[in-house]
Amino acid sequence: MKAEYVEKQKEYEIKKARAKALKLRMTCTICGEKAKLNCPCGTAQYCTTECQRIDWRDRGHRKACKKIRDDRAAEAARAEAPPSPPKPVVYGPAPRSHADEIRARIAAEHEAARARREANPEPKPVLSAEKGYVPAMLMVGMAHREGQGVERDLDEARRWLERAAAKGNAQAVAALDEMNA
Ligand SMILES: [Zn+2]
Ligand SMILES: [Zn+2]
Repeated sequence: MKAEYVEKQKEYEIKKARAKALKLRMTCTICGEKAKLNCPCGTAQYCTTECQRIDWRDRGHRKACKKIRDDRAAEAARAEAPPSPPKPVVYGPAPRSHADEIRARIAAEHEAARARREANPEPKPVLSAEKGYVPAMLMVGMAHREGQGVERDLDEARRWLERAAAKGNAQAVAALDEMNA
């Protein structure tokens, strides 16, 4: 008996919430009059453009509205895109959109590369390469080409590979060939 009552009560609450949401969707966000214009974001509606202007200009909905639509577009793009690798760690404040997320990731990668460079300004192979040790030149060139242990830098890679190639290193010649392909 009691369970049935609780069940009925729950049903009633759901119905009430639904009706309230529907009513909200049909009334102007600003003045509560009957809404005739739906905001493109789908979270607001207005009786007239006058009320829309109030919301957009005076209450800052213009920005919020754009964010809602941007987020939704990014969501849709994500849903369409092939499965992506696991989400990278996001540095700093939570990004607002997918594009911001990518920007934050790139900035974080640059920052990490800079930190690596500062922690270890000249990898040992560079010293050997600078002394004219050909295998080290190849190693340093390849490291820069692939961005292994150092930040990827094709100009630097080319410089070292060309030096090794000039000394007759076949692997350096092949690596340059690949780069110029
Ligand atoms: Zn209104
Ligand atoms: Zn809106």
